[in-house]
Amino acid sequence: MDLSCELYLTVKGVKPGCVVRTWDPEALLESLGLPLIPYALGDGVAFLSRDRRRVEALQTRPAKNIHELVGWFCGYPECCVEEFLRHGALLPALKAYRGKGLDPYVLSVDAESVRSPYHINWIPCSPSCVRTARLVRLYRDECRCGGARLG
Ligand SMILES: [Zn+2]
Ligand SMILES: [Zn+2]
Repeated sequence: MDLSCELYLTVKGVKPGCVVRTWDPEALLESLGLPLIPYALGDGVAFLSRDRRRVEALQTRPAKNIHELVGWFCGYPECCVEEFLRHGALLPALKAYRGKGLDPYVLSVDAESVRSPYHINWIPCSPSCVRTARLVRLYRDECRCGGARLG
C-alpha cells in the first residue's frame, strides 16, 4: 500500500495501526504533523497507531513471532495471518497463494513487503478471501486518494 494512503487510513482510525520503515518515528510524525503514537523496535521498524493501548499491548501481547504481531497490529484478516504463518515468509506465501487460482491482489513481493495496486500489504489467504475483499472496499471508500489506487 502507498505510504501516504496507509498513514492517512491509520490517522483516520480505519486501519488500527501500521508499520513503517524509519529510524526516527518521532521525527517522521512531527514532520508530517500526524497524531500517531510510535513504538520503535530499534531495527529501523516502527509501529504507529492512534490508539495508545494498542501500542502498549505490543509489549505484552503473546505472539508466535513478529509476523503475527504485525498482522494483529495492522488489522490484517486473521485467516490471512494464520495462512501466512504456515509459510513463514513472503515468497513461499506468495507461491502458495498463486497456486490457488486467479490472483486479483498481489503484484510482487520482496523480502519484506507486498506490492499491490490495492490498499493491502498482506498476502491474502486465498484470491477469494472474503475479509480481504471487504477491507479492500473499505479502504478504497475511506481513503483520501478517492480510490485512485484500484482498491
Ligand atoms: Zn489511497
Ligand atoms: Zn483471508
